[in-house]
Amino acid sequence: MQISESKRLFAHAKNFIPGGVNSPVRAFRAVGGDPIFIKKANGAFIYDEDDNAYIEMINSWGPMILGHNHPMIREAVIAAMDHGTSFGAPTAREVEIAELIVSMVPSVEKVRMVNSGTEATMSAIRVARGYTGRDKFIKMEGHYHGHGDSFLIAAGSGAITMGHPDSPGVTEGTAKDTLLAPYNDLEAIERLVIANKGEIAALILEPVPGNMGLCLPKPGYLQGLRDICTREGIVLIFDEVMTGFRLAKGGAQELFGVTPDMTTLGKIIGGGMPVGAYGGKKEIMEFVSPAGPVYQAGTLSGNPIAMAAGLTMLNYLNSHPEVYTRLNEIGMQIASGIASINHRLGHDITINQLGSMYSLFFTEENVTDFESAKKSDTALFGKYFQAMLHRGVYLAPSQYESLFLSTALTDDLIAKILQAHEESMKEIMN
Ligand code: PMP
Repeated sequence: MQISESKRLFAHAKNFIPGGVNSPVRAFRAVGGDPIFIKKANGAFIYDEDDNAYIEMINSWGPMILGHNHPMIREAVIAAMDHGTSFGAPTAREVEIAELIVSMVPSVEKVRMVNSGTEATMSAIRVARGYTGRDKFIKMEGHYHGHGDSFLIAAGSGAITMGHPDSPGVTEGTAKDTLLAPYNDLEAIERLVIANKGEIAALILEPVPGNMGLCLPKPGYLQGLRDICTREGIVLIFDEVMTGFRLAKGGAQELFGVTPDMTTLGKIIGGGMPVGAYGGKKEIMEFVSPAGPVYQAGTLSGNPIAMAAGLTMLNYLNSHPEVYTRLNEIGMQIASGIASINHRLGHDITINQLGSMYSLFFTEENVTDFESAKKSDTALFGKYFQAMLHRGVYLAPSQYESLFLSTALTDDLIAKILQAHEESMKEIMN
């Protein structure tokens, strides 16, 4: 496999872009080697600048749940372009997508569109603070909610991958209002609530975290959080930027039957265009300007092209429940295939999977929180990543990410992925 053009581009890019990339994990720092530069993508494949084809296991970090360059989305975008690319004024499509989101996501009675997951979480916390008149909020160790200042404390995803879970540039004043708790530990939350009685505006978490690698909630955990938040008047926020429209059409909250007060959304909601959203109970969302006093705005929010892509995607998912059946099958086939290969080869390593998300951890211990995720041998993960890449399978270039599968994966491609896994394990584990 020749990857000379990507190498050349990366060397050149470093002259003009910090680290050569526009988002840190893309630089492949955690896995070694140079990143591949992507020329195009279609269905289950992406192609680099040297025309190598790779089977896609990240799908733009989640949005491309139906595979790349889906004709339905492409046509919707092209049709919308005929009418202009941005108006900065309300449109009929925004009303349509808001109504659809309200019908799909259990906790959402009103919703505001933004341009990224980061904006969604920053805004949700501001609204929760405005609504409760309290300043502090609880965040889980290893969870990632975008790059807003107050979230860059024990943050997962690229922040931990780059070794900066606590970023310089975040003031002590900001950091002191972020209270940290380990995931899957209700007693830790009870302790924080007692120590900060009446001062906590919100508890935000990824209900099924993907940003420290995929972890699953222990039975009763999410309901336990719901009960504490109700009792204490704390706004419970599910960050479903990854899990929304993926684990079920109504996200993790539908799957686990626990309804938060607010929800943040991103990725799939834009069909591959830059979109995020936050929503929740009417009485909370009525605090958002111009209905209420909490300010939040955006020049390109509700952009007509982005809304056309998102609306087409959500309408499709809403009317095709078989998508989720198929995604579950694909996820289970890959995870159980990997587990049985590992078993046959005598490597008892952990794989966490739910629906179309999974992570392989190079540790024998169960991974249920940030501490256990950090036990994974990340050097070995780097070797595994490279071995898979050279067999034409494109994984997330970090241990602390989930993979996102799409419906474009056929049984033949799943067999190829499993074969690549077996060969890679033999190569790296000897
Ligand atoms: N929340 C979660 C759970 C995420 O996974 C991410 C991004 N991966 C974000 C928020 C931030 O979204 P964005 O990158 O669109 O700003």
